[in-house]
Amino acid sequence: MIKLHDKYFKPFVSAKEIDAALQRLADEIAEDVGDEIPVFVGILNGSFMLTSDFVKKYPKTCEVTFIKLASYEGVKSTEDIQRLIGLTQDLTGRTVIILEDIIDTGNTLHEVHRIFKNENVKSLKIATLFYKPEAYKKDFKLHYVGIEIPNKFIVGYGLDYDGLGRNLPEVYQIKETQHMTNLVLFGPPGAGKGTQAEFLKEKYNLVHISTGDVFRYNMKNDTALGMLAKSYIEKGGLVPDQVTIDMLKAEVEKNADANGFIFDGFPRTNAQAEALDQLMDSKDSQINAMIALEVDDEVLVKRLLERGKTSGRKDDADEAVIRNRIKVYYDETAILKDYYTAQDKYHGVDGVGSIEDITERLSGVIDKL
Ligand code: 5GP
Ligand code: MG
Repeated sequence: MIKLHDKYFKPFVSAKEIDAALQRLADEIAEDVGDEIPVFVGILNGSFMLTSDFVKKYPKTCEVTFIKLASYEGVKSTEDIQRLIGLTQDLTGRTVIILEDIIDTGNTLHEVHRIFKNENVKSLKIATLFYKPEAYKKDFKLHYVGIEIPNKFIVGYGLDYDGLGRNLPEVYQIKETQHMTNLVLFGPPGAGKGTQAEFLKEKYNLVHISTGDVFRYNMKNDTALGMLAKSYIEKGGLVPDQVTIDMLKAEVEKNADANGFIFDGFPRTNAQAEALDQLMDSKDSQINAMIALEVDDEVLVKRLLERGKTSGRKDDADEAVIRNRIKVYYDETAILKDYYTAQDKYHGVDGVGSIEDITERLSGVIDKL
């Protein structure tokens, strides 16, 4: 992943793939022009790199020239094309092949056609390395297309984002979600996970997704997913991971502008951790860390028994029950600890001390991500 100005981009087309596409274009065009000596016209600035690489691959004699047009502002194409440097040579009777880096709306191409309208060239053909069919709004024929791509902003290999990225030898695509910090928060019962989640949420402007809450919300409001979950529960079965993941997905989509998420209560199994990775990946994002609050069993037992005296929670009153809950927690999370350790994402944090001290320790981990 790379960052240019305020935006993040992910690798999209490798230098090797670009090379292969150019080779194909060069061979195809050479075959079509036969004995003619074509004039390749690169459209500056974007096509400087591709023009250079392309003509080196062109197997026959040719001429090369440039015109300079500008249409893009930021990450959007504009209608208003400026002609900065026009044609500087007479092309009467010549076979002209335009070399474009990318064809998006086709506005630039429209301007190119206008420039050549009165030039009396023998033929005018269009070759482009990249083409966005979903964005193209014109009828001009595209004679040679290197790589068709979806309608998303790309940079690299001559293409820039506000001046940056042109020098990159490969092409990157804008990330759908910009940089997020996504955490999986773990802690045995009594570790203070809920308290800390509240602080982290405020401090880092994250959205806290507690799977239990999400489930209750969906079932209470009879959403399609809630009813589906109920149908499994009523038959006495477990709710399949996919249903849970779909609920989480809906939560993530509801909060697409968030700085990130704190997942709480999920994942519990390897399969769920993988499904969560896939979900984040589909959003151009990732889990950055599993953070586990570590508290000694004896401290937990003492804390929970203390809490049981005032909270009236039955499961906080019986020491054997408490010890079993702690054991279940470790049995479950051991697998996940391995899963995230393998990705170098596991962070154990000492959960004994004042609330502020623990928040401080957690922040230390998050700030380094
Ligand atoms: P069009 O006029 O067809 O909308 O866009 C053509 C010009 O806009 C290209 O020559 C290029 O300069 C710019 N452009 C179009 N799409 C992209 C893109 O995804 N990334 C970048 N960096 N420039 C683009
Ligand atoms: Mg261009």
